[in-house]
Amino acid sequence: MTLDLTSLDPCVHCGFCLPACPTYAVTGDEADSPRGRIVLMRALERNEIPADDPAARQHLDTCLGCRGCEPVCPSGVGYGRGLEATRELLARQNGLSPLARLMLGTFGNSLWGKPFFFLLKTLRSLGLADSLSGSGRVGFGLGMIAATKPVQSEAARPRNTQSVSRGTVRLFTGCIMNGLFSHVHAATRRTLEANGYQVVETEGQVCCGALHAHAGDHKGAVCLAQKNLGAFGLGTDPIVVNSAGCGALLKDYGHLLGTAQGEAFGHRVQDVSELLFAAGPKPGGELAVEVAYDAPCHLQHAQRVQAAPLAILNAVPGLRLRVLPGSDRCCGSAGIFSALQPAMSRAVLETKISSFAEATPRLDFVATGNPGCHMQIGAGLRAAGLPIQVAHPVELLDWSYQLGGVYG
Ligand code: SF4
Ligand code: SF4
Repeated sequence: MTLDLTSLDPCVHCGFCLPACPTYAVTGDEADSPRGRIVLMRALERNEIPADDPAARQHLDTCLGCRGCEPVCPSGVGYGRGLEATRELLARQNGLSPLARLMLGTFGNSLWGKPFFFLLKTLRSLGLADSLSGSGRVGFGLGMIAATKPVQSEAARPRNTQSVSRGTVRLFTGCIMNGLFSHVHAATRRTLEANGYQVVETEGQVCCGALHAHAGDHKGAVCLAQKNLGAFGLGTDPIVVNSAGCGALLKDYGHLLGTAQGEAFGHRVQDVSELLFAAGPKPGGELAVEVAYDAPCHLQHAQRVQAAPLAILNAVPGLRLRVLPGSDRCCGSAGIFSALQPAMSRAVLETKISSFAEATPRLDFVATGNPGCHMQIGAGLRAAGLPIQVAHPVELLDWSYQLGGVYG
């Protein structure tokens, strides 16, 4: 298999990307930096090092794929594309680890995913995930599940009945979002409808394939993408996503599939914050809370969506919005990275949790629009004993709409 690294061609090895790299900040090792990893990818391309070289694999495996190195690069290097191509080569030649195969199989197959998510939701509703959460590997995992709890009860909130002025949108439901964050889907539907969109459901859709693509399982990602293309059809109505990681890959289906249909599908995809931002969004009722926004990498770096989530939070009267230093840095979640590389994942998370701990006045919420970040930050806050909740920005807007009587 040949390795297509043309997106790395513009690299002039200037090193401007090094300070933006969270793993380089942890180890200080050039091989754990974007520039060092580009050198390793090039060496693999030229067959100067074998695909099973343990040191090269270690440095490439510990890359978060956060793409924090892309916006700071003056040459426009497409690091993410190069990394995905390299991971595909490594996965083909070395195989995926049993844990990676198990996780990708569970998320990519609703037959396995359903009982798995049911089990997690049971742990959550019985309070076991919360009471047994901690800082060890198992306790941290339980903390991730506990963090998916809705910020307030779903009790009898009506769907909006106002007139549709902005057209129809189709909700992409995904795997983890569908399994553990159905309350965020409900808040997404309500807030969009309050802003003039009609939200319709689409049968037959599956996981977006982002976790597969990032891990090197190109075939698995393509298979899922084709199913989604079939489910959403050839219409032009926007496809709304409330998970940054899913949105980034869905927008990139043209590249993944290399087809005009994939390209057209990608153009339809919008993050929920983009749609709400386009509509205003309409302000809600007073919600006096202290909130730090933490930008998901796949929203700010991959999709380059930065202002829209802040506009959603600013539409909540009384909400004091804070953007803390390091809020643009990866939290260490990175899809299944937190399970495959727990030591690096936790080391990257530590800096972020310290910044939340030091924030004065004390935070009530961290707002972020990606399930992996949500769970990782939530578990980190629990492990540090900090009574701060994590919420999707639309959850807070939804709450404010409820308080303001927007839903009637
Ligand atoms: S990726 Fe960009 S910023 Fe980093 S070394 Fe290469 S050219 Fe410089
Ligand atoms: S993707 Fe993230 S972790 Fe990987 S090299 Fe770039 S900045 Fe570093």
